[in-house]
Amino acid sequence: MKISIGIVGSGPTAIFFLKKLASRITEISGIIDSITIFEKDGIAGIGMPYSEKYTELCNMSNIASEEIPQLHQSLVDWLEEQSDIVLKKFNITRSDISKTKIFSRLVLGSYFKTQYEYYKNILSDSNIQLKENCNTEVIDILPITSEEYNYKIVTNHNKSIFCSTVVLASGHEWINHDNLKTGYFASPWPIYKILPPENEIYNYTIGILGASLSAFDVVSSLSRRHGVFIKKDSETIYKPNKGTEKFKIVLHDLNGWLPNLQYEQKEPMRELYRHISKKELLQLRDENGFLRLHTYFESVCKPVLKKAFYKDDMPEIVEALNKTEFGIIAFVNKMSDLHAYDNPFEGMKKEFVEAQKSVKNNTPIYWKEVIDDLMFTLNFHAELFPAEDHYIFHSVLMPFLLNVIAALPLESSKIMLALHKQGKLELLKGSVEILNSTSEKDDFTVINVEDETGVKKLKYKKFIACSGQKSTTLENFPFQSLVSSGMVREPLSKVISIKNFHKILEDSNVVDLIKSEKEWYMKLKGLEIDSDFKLVDIYGNSDSNLYNLSFTHTLGVRPYSYGLQACELTSRIAAEDFIYSLTRSLTTHKNALEF
Ligand SMILES: Cc1cc2nc3c(=O)[nH]c(=O)nc-3n(C[C@H](O)[C@H](O)[C@H](O)COP(=O)(O)OP(=O)(O)OC[C@H]3O[C@@H](n4cnc5c(N)ncnc54)[C@H](O)[C@@H]3O)c2cc1C
Repeated sequence: MKISIGIVGSGPTAIFFLKKLASRITEISGIIDSITIFEKDGIAGIGMPYSEKYTELCNMSNIASEEIPQLHQSLVDWLEEQSDIVLKKFNITRSDISKTKIFSRLVLGSYFKTQYEYYKNILSDSNIQLKENCNTEVIDILPITSEEYNYKIVTNHNKSIFCSTVVLASGHEWINHDNLKTGYFASPWPIYKILPPENEIYNYTIGILGASLSAFDVVSSLSRRHGVFIKKDSETIYKPNKGTEKFKIVLHDLNGWLPNLQYEQKEPMRELYRHISKKELLQLRDENGFLRLHTYFESVCKPVLKKAFYKDDMPEIVEALNKTEFGIIAFVNKMSDLHAYDNPFEGMKKEFVEAQKSVKNNTPIYWKEVIDDLMFTLNFHAELFPAEDHYIFHSVLMPFLLNVIAALPLESSKIMLALHKQGKLELLKGSVEILNSTSEKDDFTVINVEDETGVKKLKYKKFIACSGQKSTTLENFPFQSLVSSGMVREPLSKVISIKNFHKILEDSNVVDLIKSEKEWYMKLKGLEIDSDFKLVDIYGNSDSNLYNLSFTHTLGVRPYSYGLQACELTSRIAAEDFIYSLTRSLTTHKNALEF
């Protein structure tokens, strides 16, 4: 059987997959016949957040060259090779180039493109047919029975391409139900759709749901359409344009938090088994095969966290960690409280001074780095959790990791502080309910904001939801024939004790519980995959040649899969499994012939 791979999407995840194949070229050349790449955009090898179609120059990445998983060249090496004209296009001066500097996402997009071309060339120079289809959206995938192929890939041009293996690397999916009448935007992407047309302004208050990194993109792009940022010594000042007196942005966040700030890191690269080996981790499973969150926290997290807090000179947290009753939820609450301020902008100012000191003096904030690494490890083993721990991971740990650990570049925080100082940026705490997103008659979006003081009704002429990427469901999975043929299923996580689980849930109604025979299960978001990222079918088998590396599809089982380092690891795990299965089947075939 000739091996033909179809890769859906050509963003960073696909690039890391190609890199892994290229690194094993001597083993795979002669086995893989063709690789067909499908990219719905006009240019392949960039990815959604880094593409000119979605973002603009002022939208920064949150990752420095030293944090980007290794490709053929580092970002710094690539930038140093660029002409002055190219650097000028990106507003970069040569002396700015350093491995710790943060650049615009468009810079990363151009960089990724060259790395993609590099790996494509290695593969095609080794007699693998490389076919790239841009402006081509895959709209369905059908399992087929044939000697040579396992899948039929159907495109929006009504073409069918046959492959033996499919790799889904389709990444972000923004299912937008914007309502131009009410001025409601279900996501800010592409960013151009929320910006005023040339020579127009928004001389009114704009509401944003969320206060994290995507919300900052909107703040950055909109504020530059209504004023300029001026650097004076080390301070950034915002000067509004004439006639924009009423232009203002209000961010809405459940906890009233602004993002945490970037800090110095000792080990910028996350490592899967830095603090525990795979063997040791698997040995932590209980008699029912479950890895319990409290076991992991007690046995793995506490010892390394204590060392980190000593180094960070926070002995009071070490003391708390010494107590058995101080579990992971207490830890999250304690560390979140340290980030909660009555006035979040004053808090950001304070944290800015600490973060700047950390970067200037090369002093890492050890505990943040350590907890991020520990959670990275856990994420790639979350299939071992029972429902009780999945629930805690999703509802308690994820908001903490995304808000307290995810970091805003220091330059971006200067912009937020400058806008706030000019009265152009506010933050409101409380849970938001959008009341009329589908209205056909209102000229504004109405929201309810609930906090401890009660419920307030607010109206916005423009309201932009920046609450992040939603997980795919079976209903909106883009390749429906895989659903109808039973090739995919929703992940279920077994409940250990329904009585105790109800106690944990309290009055939460967001959990989907089902009973099968005598056991209770919680439905997780997205689709089920095995530990090598192969899709699991309705019978629980994952022996297909169908890899799902799209984190939007797998967030239920792999909740903390955000960012380029997670993309790289996901691609590496899947590619290694794929290469292993290829070489193994070849050896079996050879042995059979010899026999
Ligand atoms: C606004 C934003 C900013 C971010 N900034 C950072 C950052 O600074 N640092 C960081 O580490 N991470 C960042 N991320 C996280 C981001 O998820 C990853 O960095 C990365 O983009 C994920 O790569 P991917 O290839 O999985 O998905 P994507 O980047 O989404 O790429 C998927 C590709 O598949 C194509 N595609 C999708 N569906 C189909 C289809 N059916 N047929 C054909 N082609 C298809 C898309 O056009 C796209 O090119 C950011 C995310 C967002 C949303």
